[in-house]
Amino acid sequence: MKPAAFEYVRPDNLQGALAALRDHPDGKVLAGGQSLIPLMNFRLSRPQALVDISHLTELTGISVVDGAVEVGALVRHQQLHEHEEVRRLLPVLSEAAGEVGHWAIRNRGTLGGSLTHADPAAELPAAAVALRATVVLANADGQREVPAESFFLGFLTTDIQPDEILVAVRFPVPPADVRYGFAEFARRPGDFALAGAFVEMGGDASGSITWFGVSGGPERRELDFPDDAQARKAAFAELAAEFDTGEDAVYRRKLAVTVAEQAYQKAREGRR
Ligand SMILES: Cc1cc2nc3c(=O)[nH]c(=O)nc-3n(C[C@H](O)[C@H](O)[C@H](O)COP(=O)(O)OP(=O)(O)OC[C@H]3O[C@@H](n4cnc5c(N)ncnc54)[C@H](O)[C@@H]3O)c2cc1C
Repeated sequence: MKPAAFEYVRPDNLQGALAALRDHPDGKVLAGGQSLIPLMNFRLSRPQALVDISHLTELTGISVVDGAVEVGALVRHQQLHEHEEVRRLLPVLSEAAGEVGHWAIRNRGTLGGSLTHADPAAELPAAAVALRATVVLANADGQREVPAESFFLGFLTTDIQPDEILVAVRFPVPPADVRYGFAEFARRPGDFALAGAFVEMGGDASGSITWFGVSGGPERRELDFPDDAQARKAAFAELAAEFDTGEDAVYRRKLAVTVAEQAYQKAREGRR
């Protein structure tokens, strides 16, 4: 199928894009197009206008500022995966970005697009929650910052307003004694995960797990990880029982325990 007719706007800079969004209340931002264009082709989305930001170089930077890695909204998944500073300071983020879809998808899809689209099975929204990131949103009047945990409101739904553009995501560099592990299960390489988890472990046994693919959005839970494997898996299962998994509940809850344990083992090995 082909998309319904729409007006195409290609502003020269971010201010122009924000002004265009304000002038087109039924418009949508176009970034990598990897989620929006298929939805438009199936006519599940019919924006009156597309505000194309894909060429705005001011949103493509990765920099380390005040103890945080600030990633521009238009950084592609593959760039995030390969970036040297991201690998050094936030290796679990680099690892997760490398698991998004296939190479062709990673080469077009953007961090801002992934977070705004908010697919429940997507890696990067969950990474943002797990790493306690802050989302930076702009409209024509200014900027606001939202903790990633409050940004995701449910299935394909976020706190972003129609006149706003997600401009950057700030990932605080974790303290040296905090380690992370990441694991996911997909039917084939490149498929969306059926379930995935990020484990965060502090110097003691305390930490958190952030799951994805098991409900309408990222799910973070704090817990003290029991040393005993049986007790730990029981603790994971108790948390997973809360999720509204939809279909295949028994299977998905079991997967949630499996990926949590795999992520836990990686965190214990000392990965960050
Ligand atoms: C075959 C296939 C496999 C895939 N597999 C995976 C996978 O395994 N894991 C995964 O996480 N994703 C996967 N994806 C999705 C992919 O990661 C997309 O890149 C991502 O979901 C959207 O990013 P985008 O830049 O393409 O956004 P677009 O498609 O351009 O936009 C998506 C939505 O976000 C809005 N938007 C985009 N950028 C901004 C911004 N900066 N500010 C405000 N609104 C914005 C758009 O208006 C639109 O509503 C897959 C996609 C395909 C086609």
